[in-house]
Amino acid sequence: MREVRSIATIASHSALQILRGAKSEGFKTIVLCPRDRVSLYSRFLNFIDDIVLIDGMGDVCSDEAIRRLNEEDAVIVPHGSFVEYIGVEGLERLDVPIFGNRRLMIWEADQFLKMRMLERSGVKVPRVFRSPEEVDRLVIVKMHGAKGGRGYFLARSPEEVISKCKSLGISPDECIIQEFVIGTPMYFQYFNSVVMKRLELLGCDIRYESDVDGLRRVPVPYADSLSEPTFTVVGNIPLVVRESLLVKVFEYGEGFVRAAEELVPPGVIGPFCLEGVCRSDLEIVIFEFSGRIVAGTNLYINGSPYSWLYFDEPMSMGRRIAREIRMAEEHGMLDKVLT
Ligand code: AMP
Repeated sequence: MREVRSIATIASHSALQILRGAKSEGFKTIVLCPRDRVSLYSRFLNFIDDIVLIDGMGDVCSDEAIRRLNEEDAVIVPHGSFVEYIGVEGLERLDVPIFGNRRLMIWEADQFLKMRMLERSGVKVPRVFRSPEEVDRLVIVKMHGAKGGRGYFLARSPEEVISKCKSLGISPDECIIQEFVIGTPMYFQYFNSVVMKRLELLGCDIRYESDVDGLRRVPVPYADSLSEPTFTVVGNIPLVVRESLLVKVFEYGEGFVRAAEELVPPGVIGPFCLEGVCRSDLEIVIFEFSGRIVAGTNLYINGSPYSWLYFDEPMSMGRRIAREIRMAEEHGMLDKVLT
């Protein structure tokens, strides 16, 4: 591909931010939109040029959608809903250039591969228990393929892990059993610029999760009548971290960039996020990564306290992606940022 005229994405997750940023950088913008979401996206025709109707979120791979996108010299910017709706195989088949390394999403979608990548990055990770019998503390059990906190449960003993798996009709072998780290959640939003050869930190956030965050509103005498807390993400809250922690935050980000280069060449292109908990001894323990834009960046559609350290203009993650595509085009490096 020699020229990019349009930036496209599907109508979900961080689409508004991505398309707003693409428009600021002078691209035509296209949203691939199921009929029931047109009412939302058509409110923003000030920066959305084209609404391409699709039958459902997974329909982006249809011949018609692909033809439209290629006609417009479009690049797709993938976000969290891509893996969920199109699936890893769909993404592999999608015959339109996408920004970023599409193979990284295979690693993101698999709990075991995900932990392997984090271990290779050299970041501190929670202890993983190979079998329920080893469990000797509070653990969080994540089903293979579960996402966004759905399908997780807590347990304190081997018996509890086994009985809860049984009641869910799954085998413990299908799950990852992880130490539940006590501390404050922190999610670090990075951008790895292939064109500028630098790692940027563009923002931090905290996920707002129902019901685990809502539990603090329940007076203690009533708390033990509650059932299993859930970790379903319902929103995001902004965060700046103690400045001294940034040394570690950059080390972690660079470790991840190196690991991705080794395990999934050419490595991470553009946005990614490391997700963890900061303990009271100020150790940051990472339990998750996302190899693409995360929804927490929606907080910073007009720039963040961190993006101001790099740019004298409002720079959202969506706009940063469009800027990278523009710079790659100018330097003849599109093949380095698109896969
Ligand atoms: P994840 O889908 O892995 O990002 O996890 C969803 C949520 O579960 C996180 O945002 C945390 O609130 C919680 N969580 C996941 N893993 C751990 C862990 N090892 N220790 C503490 N909290 C965790």
